Amino acid sequence: QHAKAQDQQITRFLENVDHKILVMSGKGGVGKSTVATSLAVFLGNQGYTVGLLDVDVHGPSVAGLLGLTGLPLNTIGTQIQPYYYTDNVKVVSIQGLLKQPDDPLIWRGPMKIGIIRQFLAEVNWGPLDFLIIDSPPGTGDEPLTVAQTITGCQAVVVTTPQEIALADVRKSIQFCQTVKMPVLGIIENMSGFVCPSCGNTHAIFKSGGGEKTAAKYHLPFLGQLPIDPGVVTAGDAGQSLDTLTSHTKTQMQEIVSQLLH
Ligand code: ADP
Repeated sequence: QHAKAQDQQITRFLENVDHKILVMSGKGGVGKSTVATSLAVFLGNQGYTVGLLDVDVHGPSVAGLLGLTGLPLNTIGTQIQPYYYTDNVKVVSIQGLLKQPDDPLIWRGPMKIGIIRQFLAEVNWGPLDFLIIDSPPGTGDEPLTVAQTITGCQAVVVTTPQEIALADVRKSIQFCQTVKMPVLGIIENMSGFVCPSCGNTHAIFKSGGGEKTAAKYHLPFLGQLPIDPGVVTAGDAGQSLDTLTSHTKTQMQEIVSQLLH
Protein backbone atom coordinates (compact mmCIF):
# COMPACT_ATOMS: atom_id res chain seq x y z
CA GLN A 1 0.00 0.00 0.00
CA HIS A 2 2.73 2.40 1.08
CA ALA A 3 4.84 1.40 -1.91
CA LYS A 4 1.96 2.09 -4.25
CA ALA A 5 1.32 5.54 -2.79
CA GLN A 6 5.05 6.22 -3.06
CA ASP A 7 5.07 5.16 -6.71
CA GLN A 8 2.19 7.52 -7.43
CA GLN A 9 3.99 10.36 -5.70
CA ILE A 10 7.18 9.65 -7.67
CA THR A 11 5.23 9.61 -10.92
CA ARG A 12 3.61 12.93 -10.00
CA PHE A 13 6.92 14.64 -9.23
CA LEU A 14 8.61 13.28 -12.34
CA GLU A 15 5.68 13.86 -14.67
CA ASN A 16 7.16 17.10 -15.95
CA VAL A 17 10.70 15.80 -16.36
CA ASP A 18 11.40 15.23 -20.05
CA HIS A 19 14.57 13.12 -19.85
CA LYS A 20 15.73 11.03 -16.93
CA ILE A 21 19.31 9.89 -17.28
CA LEU A 22 21.13 7.53 -14.93
CA VAL A 23 24.91 7.87 -15.16
CA MET A 24 26.50 4.49 -14.54
CA SER A 25 29.96 2.97 -14.54
CA GLY A 26 31.34 -0.51 -14.11
CA LYS A 27 34.09 0.64 -11.77
CA GLY A 28 34.67 3.38 -9.24
CA GLY A 29 37.12 6.16 -9.95
CA VAL A 30 36.53 6.33 -13.68
CA GLY A 31 35.00 9.80 -13.40
CA LYS A 32 31.31 8.95 -13.32
CA SER A 33 30.38 11.66 -10.80
CA THR A 34 32.56 14.17 -12.62
CA VAL A 35 30.84 13.36 -15.90
CA ALA A 36 27.36 13.44 -14.33
CA THR A 37 28.07 16.83 -12.80
CA SER A 38 29.60 18.22 -15.97
CA LEU A 39 26.68 16.99 -18.05
CA ALA A 40 24.28 18.80 -15.73
CA VAL A 41 26.28 22.02 -15.78
CA PHE A 42 26.87 22.02 -19.56
CA LEU A 43 23.19 21.32 -20.25
CA GLY A 44 22.35 24.11 -17.81
CA ASN A 45 24.71 26.46 -19.65
CA GLN A 46 22.81 25.70 -22.83
CA GLY A 47 19.65 26.95 -21.19
CA TYR A 48 18.06 23.65 -20.22
CA THR A 49 16.51 23.24 -16.80
CA VAL A 50 18.39 20.43 -15.12
CA GLY A 51 18.12 18.48 -11.89
CA LEU A 52 21.11 16.59 -10.52
CA LEU A 53 20.43 13.84 -7.99
CA ASP A 54 23.12 11.93 -6.15
CA VAL A 55 21.95 8.51 -5.02
CA ASP A 56 25.43 7.27 -4.16
CA VAL A 57 24.65 6.42 -0.55
CA HIS A 58 28.20 5.35 0.35
CA GLY A 59 30.26 7.84 -1.59
CA PRO A 60 28.19 10.89 -2.49
CA SER A 61 30.42 13.29 -4.35
CA VAL A 62 28.19 15.51 -6.44
CA ALA A 63 27.66 18.10 -3.68
CA GLY A 64 31.40 18.34 -3.10
CA LEU A 65 32.16 18.70 -6.81
CA LEU A 66 29.78 21.65 -6.95
CA GLY A 67 30.92 23.29 -3.72
CA LEU A 68 27.67 22.49 -1.91
CA THR A 69 29.15 20.24 0.79
CA GLY A 70 27.69 20.15 4.27
CA LEU A 71 24.31 21.61 3.40
CA PRO A 72 21.47 19.84 5.21
CA LEU A 73 18.47 18.71 3.21
CA ASN A 74 16.21 21.64 2.48
CA THR A 75 12.84 20.31 3.63
CA ILE A 76 9.54 22.11 3.62
CA GLY A 77 6.86 19.95 5.21
CA THR A 78 7.30 16.52 3.68
CA GLN A 79 8.95 17.86 0.54
CA ILE A 80 12.63 18.24 -0.20
CA GLN A 81 13.52 21.39 -2.11
CA PRO A 82 16.63 21.22 -4.30
CA TYR A 83 19.49 23.65 -3.91
CA TYR A 84 20.21 25.89 -6.85
CA TYR A 85 23.72 25.60 -8.29
CA THR A 86 22.76 28.10 -10.96
CA ASP A 87 19.36 29.49 -11.91
CA ASN A 88 18.55 26.42 -13.94
CA VAL A 89 20.66 23.68 -12.33
CA LYS A 90 19.12 22.22 -9.18
CA VAL A 91 20.88 19.72 -6.95
CA VAL A 92 19.85 17.23 -4.29
CA SER A 93 22.36 14.91 -2.69
CA ILE A 94 21.94 12.10 -0.27
CA GLN A 95 24.89 13.75 1.44
CA GLY A 96 22.33 16.10 2.97
CA LEU A 97 21.36 13.22 5.24
CA LEU A 98 24.80 12.87 6.75
CA LYS A 99 25.35 14.72 10.00
CA GLN A 100 29.03 15.15 9.23
CA PRO A 101 30.21 15.00 5.62
CA ASP A 102 32.81 12.35 6.52
CA ASP A 103 30.37 10.06 8.33
CA PRO A 104 29.98 6.70 6.61
CA LEU A 105 26.48 5.35 6.10
CA ILE A 106 26.34 1.75 7.21
CA TRP A 107 23.17 0.46 5.62
CA ARG A 108 22.00 -2.77 4.15
CA GLY A 109 20.22 -3.11 0.82
CA PRO A 110 16.60 -2.64 1.92
CA MET A 111 17.47 0.58 3.75
CA LYS A 112 19.22 1.95 0.68
CA ILE A 113 16.31 1.03 -1.53
CA GLY A 114 13.97 2.70 0.95
CA ILE A 115 15.91 5.93 1.15
CA ILE A 116 16.31 6.25 -2.61
CA ARG A 117 12.60 5.69 -3.15
CA GLN A 118 11.82 8.17 -0.41
CA PHE A 119 14.12 10.69 -2.07
CA LEU A 120 12.44 10.20 -5.40
CA ALA A 121 9.03 10.60 -3.76
CA GLU A 122 9.89 13.72 -1.79
CA VAL A 123 12.04 15.92 -3.99
CA ASN A 124 9.93 18.54 -5.64
CA TRP A 125 11.96 19.26 -8.77
CA GLY A 126 9.35 21.22 -10.63
CA PRO A 127 9.43 20.96 -14.43
CA LEU A 128 12.82 19.83 -15.79
CA ASP A 129 14.26 19.19 -19.21
CA PHE A 130 16.77 16.74 -17.73
CA LEU A 131 17.15 14.85 -14.49
CA ILE A 132 20.70 13.50 -14.22
CA ILE A 133 21.15 10.81 -11.59
CA ASP A 134 24.56 9.83 -10.29
CA SER A 135 24.59 6.27 -9.01
CA PRO A 136 27.41 4.36 -7.35
CA PRO A 137 29.57 2.21 -9.63
CA GLY A 138 28.43 -1.25 -10.52
CA THR A 139 25.05 -2.89 -10.76
CA GLY A 140 23.87 -2.95 -7.15
CA ASP A 141 20.81 -1.77 -5.25
CA GLU A 142 21.08 1.89 -6.17
CA PRO A 143 21.02 1.72 -9.99
CA LEU A 144 18.54 -1.14 -9.76
CA THR A 145 16.19 0.93 -7.60
CA VAL A 146 16.44 3.87 -9.97
CA ALA A 147 15.85 1.69 -13.02
CA GLN A 148 12.84 -0.01 -11.47
CA THR A 149 11.30 3.08 -9.91
CA ILE A 150 11.70 5.74 -12.59
CA THR A 151 9.61 5.05 -15.63
CA GLY A 152 11.38 6.04 -18.82
CA CYS A 153 14.84 6.24 -17.26
CA GLN A 154 17.75 5.89 -19.69
CA ALA A 155 21.42 5.22 -18.98
CA VAL A 156 24.73 6.76 -19.92
CA VAL A 157 27.74 4.56 -19.19
CA VAL A 158 31.13 6.06 -18.33
CA THR A 159 34.33 4.08 -18.71
CA THR A 160 38.06 4.51 -18.95
CA PRO A 161 39.75 2.96 -22.01
CA GLN A 162 41.61 -0.02 -20.57
CA GLU A 163 40.36 -3.60 -20.67
CA ILE A 164 39.96 -3.99 -16.91
CA ALA A 165 37.42 -1.16 -16.89
CA LEU A 166 35.72 -2.30 -20.08
CA ALA A 167 35.12 -5.76 -18.64
CA ASP A 168 32.92 -4.17 -15.99
CA VAL A 169 31.22 -1.87 -18.49
CA ARG A 170 29.98 -4.91 -20.35
CA LYS A 171 28.25 -5.91 -17.10
CA SER A 172 26.64 -2.48 -16.85
CA ILE A 173 25.34 -2.79 -20.40
CA GLN A 174 23.97 -6.24 -19.75
CA PHE A 175 22.37 -4.97 -16.55
CA CYS A 176 20.60 -2.31 -18.60
CA GLN A 177 19.43 -4.91 -21.07
CA THR A 178 18.12 -7.10 -18.25
CA VAL A 179 16.14 -4.31 -16.58
CA LYS A 180 15.11 -2.94 -20.00
CA MET A 181 16.67 0.46 -19.48
CA PRO A 182 17.75 1.93 -22.83
CA VAL A 183 21.42 2.97 -23.04
CA LEU A 184 21.85 6.41 -24.60
CA GLY A 185 25.54 5.79 -25.10
CA ILE A 186 29.04 5.35 -23.76
CA ILE A 187 31.50 8.06 -22.73
CA GLU A 188 35.22 7.33 -22.56
CA ASN A 189 36.87 9.34 -19.81
CA MET A 190 40.60 9.76 -19.08
CA SER A 191 41.21 9.07 -22.72
CA GLY A 192 44.69 10.40 -23.44
CA PHE A 193 46.63 13.28 -21.97
CA VAL A 194 47.55 16.29 -24.04
CA CYS A 195 51.03 17.19 -22.79
CA PRO A 196 51.27 20.93 -22.15
CA SER A 197 55.06 20.80 -22.77
CA CYS A 198 55.32 18.83 -26.01
CA GLY A 199 51.73 19.15 -27.29
CA ASN A 200 51.50 15.45 -28.08
CA THR A 201 48.69 13.26 -26.84
CA HIS A 202 49.81 10.38 -24.63
CA ALA A 203 47.36 7.49 -24.25
CA ILE A 204 48.05 6.83 -20.55
CA PHE A 205 45.22 4.34 -20.08
CA LYS A 206 45.12 3.49 -23.80
CA SER A 207 42.41 4.97 -25.97
CA GLY A 208 39.49 3.78 -28.06
CA GLY A 209 38.17 0.99 -25.84
CA GLY A 210 34.95 2.87 -25.15
CA GLU A 211 34.23 3.34 -28.82
CA LYS A 212 34.95 -0.32 -29.59
CA THR A 213 32.65 -1.45 -26.79
CA ALA A 214 29.91 0.86 -28.06
CA ALA A 215 30.28 -0.61 -31.55
CA LYS A 216 30.19 -4.14 -30.21
CA TYR A 217 26.85 -3.54 -28.49
CA HIS A 218 25.51 -1.31 -31.28
CA LEU A 219 25.28 1.62 -28.89
CA PRO A 220 26.05 5.27 -29.64
CA PHE A 221 29.52 6.45 -28.65
CA LEU A 222 29.03 9.87 -27.11
CA GLY A 223 32.68 10.96 -27.01
CA GLN A 224 35.99 11.07 -25.16
CA LEU A 225 37.28 13.29 -22.38
CA PRO A 226 41.03 13.64 -21.88
CA ILE A 227 42.94 13.31 -18.63
CA ASP A 228 42.95 16.90 -17.48
CA PRO A 229 44.49 18.03 -14.18
CA GLY A 230 42.04 20.94 -14.41
CA VAL A 231 39.22 18.45 -13.82
CA VAL A 232 40.78 17.46 -10.49
CA THR A 233 41.37 21.08 -9.49
CA ALA A 234 37.79 21.99 -10.35
CA GLY A 235 36.38 19.01 -8.48
CA ASP A 236 38.50 19.52 -5.39
CA ALA A 237 37.69 23.22 -5.27
CA GLY A 238 33.98 22.58 -5.77
CA GLN A 239 33.86 24.49 -9.04
CA SER A 240 32.75 22.28 -11.78
CA LEU A 241 34.31 23.77 -14.87
CA ASP A 242 36.46 26.82 -14.46
CA THR A 243 39.84 25.14 -14.66
CA LEU A 244 39.15 22.70 -17.49
CA THR A 245 41.35 23.08 -20.53
CA SER A 246 39.62 24.40 -23.62
CA HIS A 247 40.17 20.99 -25.23
CA THR A 248 38.23 19.30 -22.41
CA LYS A 249 35.46 21.89 -22.68
CA THR A 250 35.19 21.31 -26.43
CA GLN A 251 35.02 17.56 -25.93
CA MET A 252 32.35 18.01 -23.27
CA GLN A 253 30.31 20.22 -25.64
CA GLU A 254 30.60 17.51 -28.24
CA ILE A 255 29.29 14.89 -25.80
CA VAL A 256 26.35 17.11 -24.90
CA SER A 257 25.48 17.67 -28.55
CA GLN A 258 25.70 13.92 -29.21
CA LEU A 259 23.37 13.39 -26.29
CA LEU A 260 20.91 15.99 -27.58
CA HIS A 261 21.10 14.48 -31.04
P1 ADP B 1 33.68 8.06 -9.93
O1 ADP B 1 32.40 8.80 -9.74
O2 ADP B 1 33.68 7.21 -11.17
O3 ADP B 1 34.12 7.29 -8.74
P2 ADP B 1 34.92 10.67 -9.85
O4 ADP B 1 34.11 11.47 -10.78
O5 ADP B 1 34.68 10.85 -8.39
O6 ADP B 1 34.83 9.12 -10.21
O7 ADP B 1 36.44 10.93 -10.22
C1 ADP B 1 37.51 10.34 -9.49
C2 ADP B 1 38.69 11.27 -9.51
O8 ADP B 1 39.22 11.37 -10.82
C3 ADP B 1 38.37 12.70 -9.07
O9 ADP B 1 39.45 13.21 -8.33
C4 ADP B 1 38.24 13.44 -10.37
O10 ADP B 1 38.56 14.81 -10.24
C5 ADP B 1 39.25 12.72 -11.24
N1 ADP B 1 38.90 12.79 -12.67
C6 ADP B 1 37.72 12.44 -13.24
N2 ADP B 1 37.77 12.64 -14.58
C7 ADP B 1 39.01 13.14 -14.85
C8 ADP B 1 39.69 13.56 -16.04
N3 ADP B 1 39.10 13.51 -17.24
N4 ADP B 1 40.95 14.03 -15.91
C9 ADP B 1 41.57 14.07 -14.70
N5 ADP B 1 40.99 13.69 -13.57
C10 ADP B 1 39.73 13.22 -13.62
